Amino acid sequence: MRVRVDPAMCQANGECHRICPDVFQLDEWGYAFVEGDGPVAPELQAAAEEAVAACPEGAIVAEASSPKGAEGSQG
Ligand code: SF4
Repeated sequence: MRVRVDPAMCQANGECHRICPDVFQLDEWGYAFVEGDGPVAPELQAAAEEAVAACPEGAIVAEASSPKGAEGSQG
């Protein structure tokens, strides 16, 4: 599972960070981001999914990890 935050939709209420601070960081203005847009560690997936569901803006995009593990370039 991978998650990323759509910065155009995030309203900086910090809900995701409250639920899952290991995955969702906040910048100096309180907008959320995911460092490296990397994969979520297995032990953090439940909390990350909770944060996705809790985001009132629907700003968090979750994707299943590729079974081939194709990591690397983004966008
Ligand atoms: S919960 Fe959603 S809107 Fe709030 S800071 Fe996180 S990504 Fe942004």
